[in-house]
Amino acid sequence: MAGCAIRTYPTGLTVRSRGARSIQHSPGVEGPLDIRDGLQRSLIEMHIHTNPTSSDSMLEIPDLMTIAKETGLTGVNLTEHDKVLESHQQRAIRDQYPGQFINFGMEVSTDMGHMLAVGLTTYLPGIRRVAKLREELDKIGGFLIVAHPFRRLFDPVTAMRTGQKFELTPEEAAERMPVFKFVHAIEVGNGSNTPKENDFALEVARILGLPGTGGSDGHSTSGIGAFATGFANEVTTPEQFLEELHAGRFEAVHKTREGRWVAFTPDSLDPSQRGED
Ligand SMILES: [Zn+2]
Ligand SMILES: [Zn+2]
Repeated sequence: MAGCAIRTYPTGLTVRSRGARSIQHSPGVEGPLDIRDGLQRSLIEMHIHTNPTSSDSMLEIPDLMTIAKETGLTGVNLTEHDKVLESHQQRAIRDQYPGQFINFGMEVSTDMGHMLAVGLTTYLPGIRRVAKLREELDKIGGFLIVAHPFRRLFDPVTAMRTGQKFELTPEEAAERMPVFKFVHAIEVGNGSNTPKENDFALEVARILGLPGTGGSDGHSTSGIGAFATGFANEVTTPEQFLEELHAGRFEAVHKTREGRWVAFTPDSLDPSQRGED
């Protein structure tokens, strides 16, 4: 089939996409861009903070669910800072949005940065150490994603503060940064990152053969759906969510200005989405 891209995932799953199309590129960009439809049987916001559980967020759950629906997302994975709602609160929220999938994850602050943990039902002692966090998740079949691994590392202010410029190549970062040994996946598309931080994470994930996720990391009504995680199969329960994550049947996706959900690749964002025009 002409123009059809076959993609083999790290776990061995092969997905035939609907065709890598060459689209008209913006002026100033060399050559045709290779952009393909992303997985989108389910589209899940993987990284989002709501008020009041995350005190730094102004986003209320009802607004999140409305915007998610309008954006075309089929579900959300709430990642409150070091917290997860009690099961009766979870049930009450799920009952209000029967057509939308809601998972209650957690963004855990650890000795190796922020981690998106899927499967925890409560904050556990010791998970501030990522090794312990992974150990606890393994006991319950949980899933661990490193969030925004390169945030602010390229920032001159960070270099000034640490007295050291971040000069690793993606190959060196993949090999030397211990955090990647503890995780199942890497957040490659984060709506609150700079394009450079996302590009670097995308390249590191490719080198390591680890799958990538996408999410907005939103703390307000803006930016929801900037990135999402597209799944090959339908995800409507927390059990299916974990099963599909462990099977690697997902990828980071984003919407083009024409409203098409595409896989996040080095070429897939147009200059306006990169803040370059
Ligand atoms: Zn974070
Ligand atoms: Zn966050």
